[in-house]
Amino acid sequence: MSTPTVTEVADGVHFVQGKAVNWTILTEGDAFTLVDGGYPGDLDAVLSSIERVGRTLDQLAAVLVTHAHVDHIGSLPRLLDGRDVPVLTSETEARHARRDFLEQATPLQVAAASWRPRVLSWSLHVVAAGGMTKAGVPRATGFGAGPLDVPGHPVPIVTPGHTSGHTCYHLAQAGVLITGDALVTGHATVARTGPQVLAGIFHHDAAANRRSLAQLRSLDGDVLLPGHGAAWHGSYADAVEQALA
Ligand SMILES: [Zn+2]
Repeated sequence: MSTPTVTEVADGVHFVQGKAVNWTILTEGDAFTLVDGGYPGDLDAVLSSIERVGRTLDQLAAVLVTHAHVDHIGSLPRLLDGRDVPVLTSETEARHARRDFLEQATPLQVAAASWRPRVLSWSLHVVAAGGMTKAGVPRATGFGAGPLDVPGHPVPIVTPGHTSGHTCYHLAQAGVLITGDALVTGHATVARTGPQVLAGIFHHDAAANRRSLAQLRSLDGDVLLPGHGAAWHGSYADAVEQALA
């Protein structure tokens, strides 16, 4: 098992970098919220990150999902097995998580669209990490408007494009924005780092994703936590400008 890197980027906000995808743990008192959960093969890494922030699975209050791709929800079915923990995301993304529909490119489709050696090693990782499963999270439900009454009190910002119900989470007090795959700072299939959007093949609607980023520009804060790549420090307006360049 690879040990994930856990960094406390703000008080109670722990950014976890797994082998190919990130997730975030928000602690408040004894309880915590998990935002995204890696590939099926990341289950041990998710458990180890929970231990690293001094919590146990019994203290998990809620799971938030940026979007229902396998690299972000893969560990959840086994992680939550037998536990009464809510899994929340936008109404549309909850339907995606329940697999009423599936908006995810397969490694073959990605390779067909842009063949590079890095795509091969990424594809092998997807397969090894259990990424070929189409399994969803049947218990996923949509949240209402405004801040969520869960540890960290994130404000959801629905940013359709990467998937139809993709959602970012803003932690106004901590000055942190969790961007999922709407805006990333790197990916296993590309060498470039820094704020960027994923290649078109990864998005359900790449143009809609670019339009959605406008919502992030004026948010308060200076830490950006992407679904792929390193944490980024700076204004969100700069991050969006770089990503759209
Ligand atoms: Zn992803």
